Amino acid sequence: MNANSFRFLLFALGLSSWFALSSVAHAFSTVVIDAGHGGKDWGAAESKVFEKHINLDVARRLERTLRENGFKVVMVRSKDNFVPLSERSNIANKYWDSVFVSIHFNHSWKNTITGIETFYYGSEGAKLADYVQKDLIKGVDAYDRGVKRASFAVIRRTRAPACLVEGGFVSNEGERDQMREGARRQKIADAIARGIINYKNR
Ligand SMILES: [Zn+2]
Repeated sequence: MNANSFRFLLFALGLSSWFALSSVAHAFSTVVIDAGHGGKDWGAAESKVFEKHINLDVARRLERTLRENGFKVVMVRSKDNFVPLSERSNIANKYWDSVFVSIHFNHSWKNTITGIETFYYGSEGAKLADYVQKDLIKGVDAYDRGVKRASFAVIRRTRAPACLVEGGFVSNEGERDQMREGARRQKIADAIARGIINYKNR
């Protein structure tokens, strides 16, 4: 082997290990599901619909769907208890081969505002958020509010790819009626699961 072909071999080895590393970057077996609010923290509330309950129900449905698809799932909370924000990301940061999804529903003082949006903080979270939002809009009949960057503590402090879903407005009568229905909450959970699976398989 002459010097040039040896140099080329080193270059090719470097490239292949770079590709191997970049595919490892989003390999994960665990999904950490964070049902927003809980206990004394109700989140958004209107006409006897409490965000903390809707979040937990969607989180449980998402847990079931992801387990059926072979994922390990860690629930930040699986009952109506208060978990401080710092503890939520501490739990997430115990799992290095994970992604993190936080489930919320929205509130606005303007009760005509509707739709679904997904937030991220880091660049890998942005990709995850893109997939999740795309599948939410495909699978759930809702206005697309898009993917947005925000410095929410749970997604900022979590090292794994992280996103935060706002699955509709508790403050809007139409969306509030929809989120009362189990079928609607199942559609939202299944769409989030598809987004996570599509992100993993990209
Ligand atoms: Zn919330």
